[in-house]
Amino acid sequence: MNPQITLALSKGRIFDETLPLLKAAGIEVLEDPEKSRKLILATSQPGVRVVIVRASDVPTYVQYGGADLGVTGLDTLIEHSADWGGGAGLYQPLDLRIAKCRVSVAVRADFDYANAVRQGSRLRVATKYVNIAREFFAAKGVHVDLIKLYGSMELAPLTGLADAIVDLVSTGNTLKANHLVEVERIMDISSRLVVNQAALKLKQEPIRRVIDAFAGAVGKG
Ligand code: AMP
Repeated sequence: MNPQITLALSKGRIFDETLPLLKAAGIEVLEDPEKSRKLILATSQPGVRVVIVRASDVPTYVQYGGADLGVTGLDTLIEHSADWGGGAGLYQPLDLRIAKCRVSVAVRADFDYANAVRQGSRLRVATKYVNIAREFFAAKGVHVDLIKLYGSMELAPLTGLADAIVDLVSTGNTLKANHLVEVERIMDISSRLVVNQAALKLKQEPIRRVIDAFAGAVGKG
């Protein structure tokens, strides 16, 4: 019998956009995580199961072998690697080109960001992405005080908590609805397949088969 392969996914956008790729790869998830409370989901392939974890925990599960493979946003992957020793043991074979968005700097429409940067002002920046933000502003030579938040970043400039935020932007509708404007694009984001390197060695054939199937599915997209 084939060894069991475990794939870590998070609910929401990543799960929804990974499903068609899995299907194209011949793997159907047999339960809907939005309807079931189960955290381990069977698939149409007896040797492959899906575990549902928090988005920011996907790289952790894969790095430490709780899952053999996972799908995670580049944003999450960069933050994880900066916090966890460079993400040692995490192999990134594939850009899945799903859940695309960007990491941007946004401010209140009435805040003169360009002038603040020109004058060398110290900026208060609220974000969940402290490592990405720190590196970006350091490279620009802008002094910042970073305030770590876990959600609702858009609220920070509106309440006076921060001058700027660093957050994911897709359509820009959330910023617009909160009277914020995008003033810098830091990087483009998409979801990546990540693989535990030790698992790849131990279960090379079945894991390679899943990676190749994903690669074929992305190529078709
Ligand atoms: P939008 O209004 O389309 O610009 O989407 C922005 C909101 O959705 C922000 O709250 C983001 O944190 C979130 N968001 C956008 N794209 C993604 C993504 N690919 N993955 C996770 N969250 C996202």
